[in-house]
Amino acid sequence: MTEGIIFKIKKYALHDGPGIRTTVFFKGCPLLCRWCHNPEGLDPRPQAMSHFTSSGEIHGTVGTVIGADALVREIEKDVLFYDESGGGVTFSGGEPLAQPQFLEAVLAACNHLEIHAALDTSGFAPAAVLDPILPRVQLVLFDLKIMDAKQHRRYTGVSNRIILDNLKRIADSRTPIRIRVPLIPGITDGDDNIKKILRFAGTLKTVQGVDLLPFHRIGGEKYRRLGMTDNTAESAPPMPEHVAAIKHRFESAGLTVSIGG
Ligand code: SF4
Repeated sequence: MTEGIIFKIKKYALHDGPGIRTTVFFKGCPLLCRWCHNPEGLDPRPQAMSHFTSSGEIHGTVGTVIGADALVREIEKDVLFYDESGGGVTFSGGEPLAQPQFLEAVLAACNHLEIHAALDTSGFAPAAVLDPILPRVQLVLFDLKIMDAKQHRRYTGVSNRIILDNLKRIADSRTPIRIRVPLIPGITDGDDNIKKILRFAGTLKTVQGVDLLPFHRIGGEKYRRLGMTDNTAESAPPMPEHVAAIKHRFESAGLTVSIGG
């Protein structure tokens, strides 16, 4: 039986692709973005995490090992909502491509059930991992963060070479793409980075739109509950007028833009 590890299943999600969706968060990510708001998705193993209840803070764990069949049964429960809303399932994380056999097994079952499947990815995976996955997804939500190679490595811990190659590869496979740009003040929202993202997006044939994801501090509290250092503490949300100006730039290039996914 194929098993994987996830840290959350979000029902009735409205911002992770079209319609009403179930979003499954895979645990484990090869990146370490300075602004990550899902720190419980970084480590590929179950880990200690405290929770707050009415009687105070209690100690628990985050991360559930689950079989592909059991996960598909959970996804299938809301098939009526997907059908009525044009929705489906979205695989997010963490990084779903870091558990390729598990992802492929779940996707194969979703394809069989004709459930629309979206992949939310950083794009950091070998082409040999990506290739068998692509024919099984109907949409890729691709996080495009920093175009400058050095800066990308500095703020995420990895090179963006594979990421950019994979984005091109996905477009060449004719899979529809929504580009997701996290707007982190002083890191991703500068003029030069936005200009380069626009230029790169313009070379891709299957980009359906852009989601701008302004930084927020919601994840900060989770670092403390995990006993981790909160690197997001130094950042603040971008000014609304700056977000609006970036939105305008993408729209002027003919792209459909949403704020917040
Ligand atoms: S790719 Fe996403 S999940 Fe991974 S570290 Fe970056 S923000 Fe967090």
